[in-house]
Amino acid sequence: MTTDGFAHDDFGHVISRRPAAVATPGSIQELADLIARAAREGRVVVPRGEGHSTGGQAQSDGGVVADLRRLDAVVEIGPDRVLVEAGARWSHLLDATLPHGLTPPVLTNFLELSVGGTLATGGIGGTAHRHGLQVDGVLALDVVTGRGEVVRCGPGDRLFDDALGGLGTCAVIARAELALVPAPGTVRRLLVPCADVPALMAAQRAVVADGRVDYVEGFLQGDGGGGWTPVLDVATHRSGPRDLDPGTVLHELGIGTGDAVAADLGYRDFLRRMDAGVAEQVRTGAWGVPHPSIYLLLPDTAGAERFVTDTVRGLTAGDVGPTGIVFVYPVRRTARALPPVPAGPSAFFFAILRAAPRDDDAAVAALVEDNVALRRAALGLGGVVYQAGTLPMTPQDWRDHFGDRWPDLLETRARHDPAAVLGSSLGLGIGPGTAAEEKNGTPRPVHHGNGQDVGEGEWTRAGT
Ligand SMILES: Cc1cc2nc3c(=O)[nH]c(=O)nc-3n(C[C@H](O)[C@H](O)[C@H](O)COP(=O)(O)OP(=O)(O)OC[C@H]3O[C@@H](n4cnc5c(N)ncnc54)[C@H](O)[C@@H]3O)c2cc1C
Repeated sequence: MTTDGFAHDDFGHVISRRPAAVATPGSIQELADLIARAAREGRVVVPRGEGHSTGGQAQSDGGVVADLRRLDAVVEIGPDRVLVEAGARWSHLLDATLPHGLTPPVLTNFLELSVGGTLATGGIGGTAHRHGLQVDGVLALDVVTGRGEVVRCGPGDRLFDDALGGLGTCAVIARAELALVPAPGTVRRLLVPCADVPALMAAQRAVVADGRVDYVEGFLQGDGGGGWTPVLDVATHRSGPRDLDPGTVLHELGIGTGDAVAADLGYRDFLRRMDAGVAEQVRTGAWGVPHPSIYLLLPDTAGAERFVTDTVRGLTAGDVGPTGIVFVYPVRRTARALPPVPAGPSAFFFAILRAAPRDDDAAVAALVEDNVALRRAALGLGGVVYQAGTLPMTPQDWRDHFGDRWPDLLETRARHDPAAVLGSSLGLGIGPGTAAEEKNGTPRPVHHGNGQDVGEGEWTRAGT
């Protein structure tokens, strides 16, 4: 089976790496066979979900991209769990669980991301202040190792620890057993403009400490001229008319709600709140512009708050773009080994999802430079990069990113991926693709050409 020509591009449209081939396994065994064959032939394999990372994470220079979108079955739904294949989108999973009155505890704002892609990255959403990241809701995994073996693993297993938040460096997530919780019937959402960034972050801390509000996010509303209003975005899950109103909580906490906008939404409509805006961006073409974005997790310290405040103060409308968005909100520390998070029980997610002009390589390069500067400052404050963004990464950057987990990852790779089939495309500086991939530390403009996408039966031919 062939796929479309998407594999040398991603949602960032900044980096373009041309794979030798794209394989589209239709079963876990086909995925395992593909990886076993790659190990024998000294090939690199890069798992790919929806390709919504923005820095080439799901691309390969000369290796094989394993497009997992055919592995999308929701296999079994129980009273408190679901077994789902990794290529399924969260929207597809919800279509299956909501009729049972069940939902994963943490969902990303955009649901058209793959289960495997967000579990390999971390998975952040508005309920993460209570439940941690999506990786915290994983009960068990079926992974395919770099040897092409299918292994069932769970909490306490090294492969489980290294697959979640591990960006496919040690194993490909093939199937996940995820915790489910009762889904609320409706949601009351409140958008509250705040005086400034410190006021937003203080309100978020107070709401999280209070513990009654289910969903806590925050974003910046631009006035188009470089002025930004921070907006507290909170919601409570409701099942009846007398359920908690977030406005009551804010009132009790002394947080002014003068200009607040409230909305009652069905839970599904609330989760799909991005759909209309995305459809409009698709219609106008804005969805396809370059998105040289940066995602950070910052410690909850005075220094980090100053960093966010100063960064926002310096942001121009062009830094974000007409359809870009800036998020600031608290998340609870993950109990999992990965992804790397800052020290402390909670952190602030600070992300600039940028929309850059088309065909303006200089503007895109300047925004990537900004990302690099922001990363440097964030790391200096004890922050970490959430690896969905557009950032050049050298082998040393990866070692620093994984920190004290790096030796464990190397050990797991030595045991389960001795031919270094997985992960090399990130530019880790190890594995057969190293020479070709290391140059990917430098982003280069995307160019669309004649990359061949072929079925798994043919992929060796495509590389020649
Ligand atoms: C519009 C938009 C909104 C977003 N909102 C959120 C949000 O609310 N919360 C959030 O956390 N993130 C968000 N993101 C970022 C997103 O989570 C990450 O980019 C995520 O990795 C995307 O999933 P994907 O299926 O597109 O993964 P891909 O981009 O295909 O892959 C990402 C990485 O995971 C690896 N990978 C993919 N599948 C597997 C697998 N099965 N096993 C092992 N490794 C695998 C890839 O090799 C790559 O390194 C958003 C991105 C966009 C564009």
